[in-house]
Amino acid sequence: MSGDLRSGRIVIVGASLAGLRAAEALRDEGFTGSLTLVGDEPHLPYDRPPLSKQVLLGRARAEECGLPARRALQARWRLGVGAVGVDTAGKRVLLADGEQVPYDRLLIATGTRARPWPDPGEAALDGVFTVRTVGDASRLAERLDAGPRRVLVIGAGFTGSEIASACRERGLAVTVAERGRAPLIGALGGTVGAWATKLQLAHGVDLRCGVTVSALKGENGRLTGAEFSDGSRIDADVAVVALGAVRNTEWLADSGLAAGPRGVACDAGCRVFDMYGIVSDDVFVAGDVARFPHPLFEYQLIALEHWGNAVAQAEVAAHNMVSSGPHRRPHLSVPAFWSSQFGLNIKSVGVPTFSDQVVIAQGAPEERRLVAVYGYRGRVTAAVAVNRAKWLEHYQRLIETAAPFPPGPGAADFVDGSEPVPSDVPDPRVLSHGPTVALTGHLPDRRLTLLRPGG
Ligand SMILES: Cc1cc2nc3c(=O)[nH]c(=O)nc-3n(C[C@H](O)[C@H](O)[C@H](O)COP(=O)(O)OP(=O)(O)OC[C@H]3O[C@@H](n4cnc5c(N)ncnc54)[C@H](O)[C@@H]3O)c2cc1C
Repeated sequence: MSGDLRSGRIVIVGASLAGLRAAEALRDEGFTGSLTLVGDEPHLPYDRPPLSKQVLLGRARAEECGLPARRALQARWRLGVGAVGVDTAGKRVLLADGEQVPYDRLLIATGTRARPWPDPGEAALDGVFTVRTVGDASRLAERLDAGPRRVLVIGAGFTGSEIASACRERGLAVTVAERGRAPLIGALGGTVGAWATKLQLAHGVDLRCGVTVSALKGENGRLTGAEFSDGSRIDADVAVVALGAVRNTEWLADSGLAAGPRGVACDAGCRVFDMYGIVSDDVFVAGDVARFPHPLFEYQLIALEHWGNAVAQAEVAAHNMVSSGPHRRPHLSVPAFWSSQFGLNIKSVGVPTFSDQVVIAQGAPEERRLVAVYGYRGRVTAAVAVNRAKWLEHYQRLIETAAPFPPGPGAADFVDGSEPVPSDVPDPRVLSHGPTVALTGHLPDRRLTLLRPGG
């Protein structure tokens, strides 16, 4: 750690999970200078995962989901005002109310927002919701309490599936519309997607895959139903748009930083690249908005929408913001994600979309417990456990050590003779609304550099 780096002015833009954890880690690391957190939401940091689970089930109120403070921060909070730009030469963050906040080091932690329904008129109908913020979840929970006749969920990624699950648990009629062939296919591929299809059908979801919603219909400003691309229609008084997330990078458009729809690109130490690919020592990034190279995934830049990644990356960014060159750390933790839906606990380690094959290594889908292990070119790259979370540590070790795929026997319920099949994951180069992980570099087999003797 370097003495002068422990003083000065640090500004964090984005006052949510990554921003808060970075601020706490900065103080833990001995940073004694001035700390400013800028957040465009009016609230102190809160936790998002319960919003699509306990809150929609009516088991917790959205307002009770505040993130616990781990320590006193002695920070200046600028809440309810967005950053609209950054002057990297003058080292100032520009706020929407005209204030300019000077910094010595800046952390970008502006995360993502819900992708809105593309037709603004339809999106404005009473009864159309997204779920990203405390206000979103609170309004939707209230509407579900009122007992709508049918809820339409548009998109069957993790969030859409959790919302559908909460509605079914409340006994509400639910239609789920998914453009892909199966729920969760964007994040977990076709094999696990086929299992998720059965799961939703068994829980009484009216599941419509391979279709899109072509229009939301309304009368007197209220949602009345929807039309699908196959010509069918339904009546619904609530529609939840769960089309994935958009990265909050527009405010960086004129910053000269490598920021765009795929996120803010950085090195493994969370230092942001400028548009020429040069890293700076004073601008860092962490959380959902970051794209970073990961050695386990062949140094492709990955962007994760994972709670655990936001925390781990924030801690590495904070450490590196107060450390000089040789003392800096890379952000190397193996990605991990969890979801609960339809009474099941789903957890993953690694990057399932970074795969060409998958094998059911443990358990059996019909018994509501399984471990699917993913491989890429003969090594283990991910595992997804359903009601089998205790095994993930084992598979994480296999991922970290690039163990051969398919994996050998490890557990009592190992499925002997289970044959790997294609993992059937979407092309990672295509911007998609499904996955919570996006690999945004070149695939290794698509390297563009050709070495031609004498060429
Ligand atoms: C409904 C829901 C359920 C989830 N469930 C799970 C789960 O089960 N498991 C899991 O691993 N992950 C889950 N996640 C993902 C997890 O919550 C995120 O990974 C985490 O919130 C990322 O934290 P972050 O701080 O990087 O970004 P965010 O939480 O998105 O916070 C970014 C903050 O920056 C603010 N901001 C944006 N632009 C500006 C600006 N220009 N100026 C100032 N402030 C700005 C935003 O308003 C926001 O407050 C879920 C997310 C949602 C929405």
